[in-house]
Amino acid sequence: MRLIGVAFLILTAIFFLLPEPEGFPILEYHQVTDEPLDPDFEVYNVPPAEFAAQLDYLQAQGYTTITLQDFMRVVHGKGELPDKPIVLTFDDGYADNYSTMLPILEAHNMTAVVYVITNELGKKNYLTLEQLKDMQRRGIEIGSHTADHLPLTSLDKNAQRYQIRDSKIFLEWSGLQTIYSLSYPNGAFNPELEEILREENFLTAVTGEAGLNTLATNPYELYRVHIRKPRFGLTEFKFRLWKANFFAKLRNIF
Ligand SMILES: [Zn+2]
Repeated sequence: MRLIGVAFLILTAIFFLLPEPEGFPILEYHQVTDEPLDPDFEVYNVPPAEFAAQLDYLQAQGYTTITLQDFMRVVHGKGELPDKPIVLTFDDGYADNYSTMLPILEAHNMTAVVYVITNELGKKNYLTLEQLKDMQRRGIEIGSHTADHLPLTSLDKNAQRYQIRDSKIFLEWSGLQTIYSLSYPNGAFNPELEEILREENFLTAVTGEAGLNTLATNPYELYRVHIRKPRFGLTEFKFRLWKANFFAKLRNIF
């Protein structure tokens, strides 16, 4: 027993002595509101005051927000990443991303990526096409969260392609600029999906796996850290950023 304890302490010490992992975090948000749409999913909304405090903190820490298109430009040799890049993403396409999140974001001179479920657009509590167009004009990257938000790994190949392709084509034919990024519903992905995404001209896809991203990370398996409704304010937010670091460090070992 004692030996196990000592071994554990030594391993922990080694872990913390390892160099800090490289890479930047991608944060995964959903709603920014005091009142969640579905009270059963309480954890998926960050209250506006908390959100503003999180952006204040990121700014104070010297982070610069970028979009995933910015990231891919650098991957392809055009330009450089800022000193401390960070990507803010919002899944599902809730109306409060326009009415509440965007003004807070712009007050901080920050940008974001918003992933929409195309068959929900225009429904109650969801974004409209006009709002998406306005967001794009204001520098927000719009991405696809598929047509119906079904976990893609549970579908056959044809259905997978439909969910990926239809959402992109719908947005582009509705007058939005090219859609380059996808967020996997429920974070469910596998290597076969990457092939479809490439064929359908997507450049990036985000998962729900915690970690940090570098220019060498597979752009179809980008790591994200989920920002839930905090019970412990900024301390919890800092912990979630730390979690991304922790998992990146673990991946460097294994
Ligand atoms: Zn979702």
